[in-house]
Amino acid sequence: MGGTWYWNRYPEARFDSESYTYGYLFSKELFDDWEWQEHFAGQPEIERYLNHVVDRFDLRRHIQTGARVTSAVWDESSATWTTRAADGTEVRSQYLIAATGVLSLPFFPNVPGRETFKGESYHTGLWPSTPVDFTGKRVAVIGTGSSGVQLIPAIADDVASLTVYQRTPNWCTPLNNRPITPEEQADLRANFESIRHTLNTSQGGFLHTPHDRTAFDDSKEQRWAFFEKMWNSPGFSKLSSNYTDMMTNVAANEEWCEFMAEKIRGIVKDPETAEKLIPDHRYAQKRPPFVTGYYETFNNPKVSIVELKKTPIVQVTETGIETTAGLQEFDMIVWATGFDFGTGTLLRMGIRGKGGLPLREYWADGPITYLGLQCRNFPNFFFPGGPHGAAGNNPRYGGDQVEFITNAIVYVRDHGHDTIEVREAAEAEWNDMVNTTAAMSPFSEISYFYGTNIPGKPVRFLLNPAGRPKLLEMMAEVVANDYRAMELSRSSERATSTA
Ligand code: NAP
Repeated sequence: MGGTWYWNRYPEARFDSESYTYGYLFSKELFDDWEWQEHFAGQPEIERYLNHVVDRFDLRRHIQTGARVTSAVWDESSATWTTRAADGTEVRSQYLIAATGVLSLPFFPNVPGRETFKGESYHTGLWPSTPVDFTGKRVAVIGTGSSGVQLIPAIADDVASLTVYQRTPNWCTPLNNRPITPEEQADLRANFESIRHTLNTSQGGFLHTPHDRTAFDDSKEQRWAFFEKMWNSPGFSKLSSNYTDMMTNVAANEEWCEFMAEKIRGIVKDPETAEKLIPDHRYAQKRPPFVTGYYETFNNPKVSIVELKKTPIVQVTETGIETTAGLQEFDMIVWATGFDFGTGTLLRMGIRGKGGLPLREYWADGPITYLGLQCRNFPNFFFPGGPHGAAGNNPRYGGDQVEFITNAIVYVRDHGHDTIEVREAAEAEWNDMVNTTAAMSPFSEISYFYGTNIPGKPVRFLLNPAGRPKLLEMMAEVVANDYRAMELSRSSERATSTA
């Protein structure tokens, strides 16, 4: 159980959204009976929570694990999906809902010789459930995204040596995690309804209070004092509570970067190493990670960095990694090289819609969606948490979509229909919105949010750039207009028109 939180079980994998803002909100009883131990829970607690949810709502009997879907095909005449899994399971259903996630297909770069390595080899997103022992081993970590930078400090003390292969440094700021005090636990319980209200209506699905000033409303001294406050604030508040123009005003963003660069230089004792760790892109052009003791790790003499932009990897050999600077031998290689974001999993399940149209073909130039949860030619198929939906704290917008889908299915049933498919005009409107407003997002094409980390993938914005309020507004509009954005039909009608 747990999906992404099952597979990403590498040391120190943890939330970077506050635990109580990330968990389910549909049941006050569930909220009351699970006391998160830390503001940012670690993977083991998250996995326990998800198992608790499954048991509390008696869901285990509905779940079959280990069933890798190999095809899902729409049959127009019976208005059903037939889904097949590699274990031989075959299921016919009226609806197909792929809750397969945006970060669920781990990506291994196509480095020559990768499979020839004779030591231990792991990907952070496919971490084994049996213990991995780092003690006394020469370890290489490739990748310095959110996963790599969580793992690196966690293993540095145990290893014999740790070599970090960094292509692009990231702006890492402190997570500022701590245990939830008994008083805070009581407050959380007492304020459930207002917490839920804030989370359900806020821009990014966080509790952080937005700032009320632009950067240059303040003097430099005030700004740097505020940046200090941001540095010491929890997780994503560096984005959600920062100056209101932080993501739109280049000068403001650059000064925040200057502040963070000074922090890095203050923490990392070796000046050369510090410079290697300072990014040259603006804050949030790539998804920023949040860390605990990351920069401090580079003061450990066992830890070193290889800058891949200067000395790229040539090949992996049986014993180690060869860059243009030579071969370094290892006992273990950890690939923290990310995921095929947004569309990776959906395009690998053999999904075929009307007339046998493969989803792969319909999305050959990038995803085409409505509200990031449905697309034309694939009736009764929904993908909550898919491409074009994401805006902020994942479970919050995913929860919005799940509610929308649930209500749509009930509407279809209650009105005597059996299929639902988005109309062309509605789908075009949503895609135009995504493509024309993508530039408003702070993320740039250097981010995997554009798919640029995957060779050959179409470069398209894969999030919902208008944010959650727009998603909520458009969903409400669909319901208020009696699902006019959707084509609803009955099989009996279809049979008559065919005849
Ligand atoms: P990622 O952010 O995509 O980072 C992958 C890293 O691998 C990058 O440093 C990338 O370098 C590097 N890389 C990729 N291909 C490479 C190659 N051919 N050679 C060398 N280096 C290569 O992936 P991630 O760290 O797994 O994180 C993905 C997302 O998962 C996060 O952004 C976040 O949304 C989520 N996550 C969340 C948490 C949490 O705290 N809750 C923790 C982990 C992950 P470039 O930057 O140069 O491409």
